[in-house]
Amino acid sequence: MTEEAFDVMVVGSCMTDLVSQAPRLPKAGETIHGHKFFIGFGGKGANQCIQAARLGVKTAMVCKVGKDFFGDNYIQNFKDNGVHTDFVGQTSDAATGAASIIVNKAGENAIVIVAGANMLLGSEELQKALPAISHAKVLVCQLEISLQTSLQALRMAQENNVKTIFNPAPAIPDLDPDFYRVSDVFCCNESEAELLTGSSVANVEEAHRASQELLKRGCGSVIITLGPQGCVVLKAQESTPKHVPTTAVTTVDTTGAGDSFIGALAFYMAHCPIMPLEEMAHRANQVAAVSVQAIGTQTSYPFKKDLPAELF
Ligand code: ATP
Repeated sequence: MTEEAFDVMVVGSCMTDLVSQAPRLPKAGETIHGHKFFIGFGGKGANQCIQAARLGVKTAMVCKVGKDFFGDNYIQNFKDNGVHTDFVGQTSDAATGAASIIVNKAGENAIVIVAGANMLLGSEELQKALPAISHAKVLVCQLEISLQTSLQALRMAQENNVKTIFNPAPAIPDLDPDFYRVSDVFCCNESEAELLTGSSVANVEEAHRASQELLKRGCGSVIITLGPQGCVVLKAQESTPKHVPTTAVTTVDTTGAGDSFIGALAFYMAHCPIMPLEEMAHRANQVAAVSVQAIGTQTSYPFKKDLPAELF
């Protein structure tokens, strides 16, 4: 068992993206030729962990992959990014999570996600990781694994005074209210905030109102990301939400921008725990802005060396 203490631990998903580019999407029963194929590393949990690791904190991933080529490959990807892999389990009962993605000329896509091994991550793996979780600085969870596993991980962290970030993505309408109570920072995007509150969240004003509604449900603080408009931050001690704007950039590919933001936030919470949350959000905006200016998900995430020194 590891005796190491981690800055950031993520309990979440790994997905292999299998991307085919074709002139159009095939119809049912049809086979067509595409012109480009590539394999990418994704999954919200892994994305967030890898962004935090690239900024320079000690990270560990708690997840499950298949005993297959994609699983082996994903473990190597974690190692290449300096993420600790003792808590990455491999199972022969399901395949590594995969997203088969077809993109047409217009940039529209059709996607089939098979969560596979991600759904087999459970109590047993969390118990194995508990000594490490209880000594971590920050724990991050999302909803691409079983809900009970995410909630149990957040509870374990809270019971051990480990700071928690919860990203309710992909959002579900009737989220167990306990998720709010175990979240030090509840961080979502506009569409997730909309689904959770039942009200439109399409501008800063509406995001302010949504953050107040989400905070009432019991979390420590709320952050709602707003794409090129940055984010809104509301802390429990304060009744007024603050808009943290960003410099809008021309985007090349926004896939995984939210995960880059959350990975960066986890980095700042672990590395600079007394920094005001608005300042962390301001810096996380700048990290995520870099990620939207390059193609791909993890391939677009910046390393510490690529960023201005004043962010550190
Ligand atoms: P995705 O689903 O594409 O991963 P998301 O919807 O979860 O993203 P967004 O709110 O779109 O998340 O973006 C997350 C963060 O990325 C924003 O808060 C902002 O900091 C940054 N960002 C996104 N788009 C831009 C942009 N055009 N210019 C500058 N920053 C951006």
